[in-house]
Amino acid sequence: MARRSREQTAIREQEPSIRKTNFEEVCLGYNLEEGQLEAARCLQCKNAPCIEKCPVMIDIPGFILAIRDGDMAEASEVLSKYTNLPAICGRVCPQEKQCESVCKLGLAKNFEPVAIGKLERLVADWALENEQAVAKRTEPVIGKVAVIGSGPSGLTVAGDLAKEGFDVTVYEALHAPGGVLTYGIPEFRLPKRIVQKEIASIEKLGVTIETNAVIGKTITMDEIMAEFDACYLSVGAGAPNFMGIPGTSLNGVYSSSEYLTRINLMHGYQFPRYDTPTKHSKKVVVIGGGNVAMDAARSAKRLGADEVSVVYRRSLEELPARIEEYHHSVEEDIQYNWLTNPVEYLSNGKGELSGVKCVKMALGEPDESGRRRPVVIPGSEFTIEADTVIEAIGQGSNQVLLSTFPELTLNKWGYVEADSATGATSVPGVFAGGDIVTGAATVILAMGAGKVAAKSMAEYVKEKKQFSPVS
Ligand code: FAD
Ligand code: SF4
Repeated sequence: MARRSREQTAIREQEPSIRKTNFEEVCLGYNLEEGQLEAARCLQCKNAPCIEKCPVMIDIPGFILAIRDGDMAEASEVLSKYTNLPAICGRVCPQEKQCESVCKLGLAKNFEPVAIGKLERLVADWALENEQAVAKRTEPVIGKVAVIGSGPSGLTVAGDLAKEGFDVTVYEALHAPGGVLTYGIPEFRLPKRIVQKEIASIEKLGVTIETNAVIGKTITMDEIMAEFDACYLSVGAGAPNFMGIPGTSLNGVYSSSEYLTRINLMHGYQFPRYDTPTKHSKKVVVIGGGNVAMDAARSAKRLGADEVSVVYRRSLEELPARIEEYHHSVEEDIQYNWLTNPVEYLSNGKGELSGVKCVKMALGEPDESGRRRPVVIPGSEFTIEADTVIEAIGQGSNQVLLSTFPELTLNKWGYVEADSATGATSVPGVFAGGDIVTGAATVILAMGAGKVAAKSMAEYVKEKKQFSPVS
């Protein structure tokens, strides 16, 4: 093996003491020189395991080789064959659990894996800066498809089918497209200009996006089925779960969905330039341990809270959040109460939150998820002073559309039943994927489901119309 640096090429970031006071992006990315240095670490493996572990099977050594050779147009060309959202994936995908977890370099003793995600981001940002033309749709139009929901799953289907020559309309309930990428993940992790640019690239393929269109309310599923040859349901899992403990109705208790939507979609952090005010909290407690909890805690800090602490019922070892986000949060002075669970929200007597009564937990036997089940330690109650609580304990399926579409088979948790190999649902011509099928998961899994469904939707429509392409 040629001499390679054991460590990944360092990436530039905003200083923690500065970044915790602003919403600018934390990670500043590689420049070309740094990227080439990192790309040269790749072993260019045959049968590369990183490809196998990627839900959309990107030719990772292929685009890394092009970076190493300084051919960014080629690197971008390789990436665009597999993903319509590389600048987004490069920023938020849990690479450490996917491609990077099996990187052969990383498996060698004392070596860190190739920083695949950061290299993906470098190429994607270059492509956005240099306005790389995306492959235009082919003629003739094969058929008309509707995509319901404009998160990463729906956008993937839209982009892939438009490239194949389909006439695609995406319907989005909110006033801006992007799903969680727009309303959930904060600016300091995923700048909205990046999301908007990648969506614009998909629109350039000929995709129409109609916002403020709540399917099941403003347009019915019957109307969709009558107008289109097939449709893809990608409405996500955006309905917040609540602890349901005493005091939930107090002023100052938020769901993470409301809290983050106010900040991101409604630009609450830019009040009064935008009309949505945010609470001036002093002591904030965030309940949960996933990416959503990290985002809520770090947003609260940036909005000026003096103290922000996360309450999580398991330990650091079980934390579901990306480890990079956890480290960033610690650098930004977020405190952690491990093995702790809230049991009651306390009032100041005026209907406002004044504290969170908690209990300490111990880890017992593994539960159905394979993680050790937290059990309450009797007599361990204590109180954390707080004027704001943000519950980030997961989301469920949004029933707005599903409740109007009884023909569709749901599973016992209220998610849509869809064949994992095709995305087909119980209703012919209706396909589904992303969080509305799997429950809250990840951007890349939602995209992977979209790729699978796009392929089978194309086959379905061609068969239905007995389409024979004109040579
Ligand atoms: P969504 O992104 O939820 O999009 C669904 C869209 O459908 C929404 O825009 C919604 O408004 C729309 N919709 C719903 N009902 C209707 C209707 N009736 N008519 C029309 N439109 C409708 N994943 C990662 O990989 N990395 C991360 O770092 C990460 N961080 C996260 C942080 C937060 C705060 C959250 C909430 C999630 C995070 N995730 C992360 C998870 C990831 O964002 C989701 O798994 C992914 O967005 C799911 O994509 P989707 O396309 O299925 O649905
Ligand atoms: Fe390169 Fe790692 Fe993939 Fe091998 S496994 S091709 S070293 S990124």
